[in-house]
Amino acid sequence: MPVIVVVGGGFAGIAVARRLERRLRTGEAEIVLLSRDNYTLFTPMLPEVTSGELEVRHVVTPIREQLARTRFVLADVDQIDVARREIMYHHVLTGVRTVQRYDHLVLALGSSTSTFDLPGVAEYTWPLKRLKDADALRNHLVWLLELADTIADAQRRLRLLTLVVVGGGFTGVETAGEIVELFRSVLRFYKRLRFDEVRMILVEAGPSLLAGLPPKMGQYSRRVLERRGVEVLLGDGVAGADDRGLALASGRRIETETIIWSAGVKPSPTIASIALPTTKRGAVMTERDMRVRGFDDVWALGDCAAIPDGAGGLFPMTAQHAIREGPHLADNVVAALRGKPTTPFRYRSLGMMAALGGRKAVAQLPGNLVITGFLAWFFWRTYYLLRLPGLDRKLRVAFDWTLELLFPRDTAELRFGEREGEEAATKR
Ligand SMILES: Cc1cc2nc3c(=O)[nH]c(=O)nc-3n(C[C@H](O)[C@H](O)[C@H](O)COP(=O)(O)OP(=O)(O)OC[C@H]3O[C@@H](n4cnc5c(N)ncnc54)[C@H](O)[C@@H]3O)c2cc1C
Repeated sequence: MPVIVVVGGGFAGIAVARRLERRLRTGEAEIVLLSRDNYTLFTPMLPEVTSGELEVRHVVTPIREQLARTRFVLADVDQIDVARREIMYHHVLTGVRTVQRYDHLVLALGSSTSTFDLPGVAEYTWPLKRLKDADALRNHLVWLLELADTIADAQRRLRLLTLVVVGGGFTGVETAGEIVELFRSVLRFYKRLRFDEVRMILVEAGPSLLAGLPPKMGQYSRRVLERRGVEVLLGDGVAGADDRGLALASGRRIETETIIWSAGVKPSPTIASIALPTTKRGAVMTERDMRVRGFDDVWALGDCAAIPDGAGGLFPMTAQHAIREGPHLADNVVAALRGKPTTPFRYRSLGMMAALGGRKAVAQLPGNLVITGFLAWFFWRTYYLLRLPGLDRKLRVAFDWTLELLFPRDTAELRFGEREGEEAATKR
C-alpha cells in the first residue's frame, strides 16, 4: 500500500490529513502524520492567552481527536532524504530514532520567529509563536507587576513598567491591545502601582500599522490604541536589544525589561536541511498545484511553502490560506495516486481582522469593505469561535470570554513548566 506522510500538525497538515481520510478508499493508501506537538495551536487566539483572557489549554486541539484513520507519531523530524524517499525523525518523548519511508511526502512544517539576525534580539526578546511563548510571557507580565509593586529603585521600577511590542502587523497590534487590557483589569490589586505609570510602546519600522491592508484599518488601529494609552512609534526599526532595553535605528533607546517580538516569521528551518528548491526567505518553491518544483512525490503548503498565486505573486502565510490549501493539496495527491491530472490552487482572501482589546477590532471583509469598532470585534469573536476546531474547545473559549466580562483576569504566576520557567529565568 502506498504511504502518504504529512509532516507538521498545524492548520495545513491537519487539513491535508482530514481530507485524505475522506477521499481515500479503504486500503488505497496509508496516511501517517508526524508532528512534534500532539496538538494544533489556534494561533489567532494566542495574544489572548498572553493577557490571561483565555486559558492556555483552551486554544489547542489534540491531533488524535481530529483524525480517524491517520497514524499519528509524536516526532521531531531531523532530516529528509528526497532521493531515497526517507524521513529521519526521533520520537519527542523517547528519543528513539526511526526512518519512515514514503511514496508521497507533504511538507506542512510552518514557520518560526525571524529576528533578522539583529544583535541581542534572539536573547532578550519574547517571541509569540508557540504556546509555550504565550504561557511564559503571561507569567512574566505578572512577575513584573509583582516586582514593580515591591521595588524601591525608581529607575528599575520605570523600566519594569515599560513594555515594548515590536511589529505593527496583526500579532503586534493585537498583543499591545491585549496587554493594556490585562493591566487595566488587574492593577487595582497592586496598591502601589498606577495605570499612568505603565508605558506600552508599539514599534513599527514601516510608515503605518497593518501594512498591506486598506490604510483606514491601520489608521483606526492607531487611534484606538493611542486612546487607550499605547505609544505608537512608526518609521523606526530595531537596531538591537540587550538586558536593559531596545536600541532603535534612529539612535533612540527605550529602557525596558520586556520586549515582545512580533516583527516577522520565516519558513521552518527544517526546510533548509532538505535538498529542495527554496526562495531567498527559505520557503519551498512549489508549482501551482502545490507539488514541489521538479518533484512528482513531494508537496508543500502553508507557511513553509512559496505557492504561486497565478498573478505573479505568492499566497500569503496565513491560517486562512493554509486551511484552504490543505483540502486542495489532498485532492491533488489522490489524483496523482489514481493517475489523474492535478489542478492549480486558486483562492481569494476573505479579508483580515485584528482585535484591538477593549471590545474593538478592525476587519476587512470581502469586496474590500472595512468595518471597525464593536461590530468588527463581535464579528472577530464569532468568526474565530466558529473556526476553532472541536465543540468542547468552542465551549471552553466562550466560557472564558463570559467569565472575563464578570471577573478580573487571573494574576497567579505559575511556574509548573520546567522549560518555560528556565527560559523565563534566563530572560530576566
Ligand atoms: C500570534 C499569531 C497570530 C496569528 N493570527 C492569525 C490570524 O488571525 N489569521 C490568520 O489567517 N493567520 C494568523 N496567523 C498565522 C497562522 O498561524 C499561520 O499562517 C498558520 O499557522 C500556518 O499554518 P501551517 O500549518 O503552515 O504552520 P503551523 O501552524 O506553524 O504548523 C506547523 C506544524 O509543524 C510542526 N513542526 C515544525 N517543525 C517540525 C519538525 N521539525 N518536526 C515535526 N513537526 C514540526 C509544528 O509543531 C506545527 O504543528 C497568526 C500567527 C501567529 C504566530
